[in-house]
Amino acid sequence: MRRSRDSVWKGHAFVWKRPPGWVGVLKAWLGPRFGPAGIEALRPGLERDLCWDDTAWLDLLETALAVDLEDAVDELADDLRHAVLRTYHGTRTIDAGIFHREGLKVHDRRAMTERLRHLVDAHDELATLRGDALARAIAEVDNRTDDGRLHVVADDQFLLDHAAHYLIYGSEWVAAVLGEGNRRFLRTQGAPTLLEIDLPLRMAGPRSRQEFAKAMLREWARLTCNEADWSAPIDFAFCLHVDIPPACVVGHTHPTEFRDPLDRRAIYVSDVTTCMGCGG
Ligand SMILES: [Zn+2]
Repeated sequence: MRRSRDSVWKGHAFVWKRPPGWVGVLKAWLGPRFGPAGIEALRPGLERDLCWDDTAWLDLLETALAVDLEDAVDELADDLRHAVLRTYHGTRTIDAGIFHREGLKVHDRRAMTERLRHLVDAHDELATLRGDALARAIAEVDNRTDDGRLHVVADDQFLLDHAAHYLIYGSEWVAAVLGEGNRRFLRTQGAPTLLEIDLPLRMAGPRSRQEFAKAMLREWARLTCNEADWSAPIDFAFCLHVDIPPACVVGHTHPTEFRDPLDRRAIYVSDVTTCMGCGG
């Protein structure tokens, strides 16, 4: 059901962990969907003892709505096509400038294999993978995932805290092929890099947009009721099947301290804080 011709989300750019940038817009969007008591039915400010990721926040929100929650989720997911969300992608590179110039491409297994072959040929540290050994190592890893896909996440802190291997080693597939014995070599190449991407949400599939709409409504209900001053640390990845154009890559940083999920969460400190793309 369309409530207005112009969506409040049209051209709106926001960052998940900066709720002031989207909570008010979502409140305006919810306005016509509230029941007769309006937002007051939620008793804003009355703290509820619920964890931030409890789906009971959605049940609570539904009690104040004049529409079914499912319909609200569907409509919000549809309307979010007009919005732009700051997202993040972790990688390791000698030149992040390439992403600013060429964008971020979906995983191309053939190109990655070629790059890996060059790496093995060029570096004696990887000599054990020369000849047939590389093809055997490739055959041994799970090759079904990732090809043709690209992941960006809605919360950089969650990525840094729980999935830092993307920044420490770069491609998860390359790290898997090199294996425990050889993947430390990847730490000697380039700099851990966090790309900042303003993702037009129309690029995300309808299903992930729907899941994200649900996360927004849940978080909105929590922030409104509990008047929390902190943002929920969501683990939310958008799986894309198309390349991200260069204009969407709006920045990059080189974080230095992580816990390595591939090394029993040991602390890893990088001393590389620049790349060719930022004057390194
Ligand atoms: Zn850089």
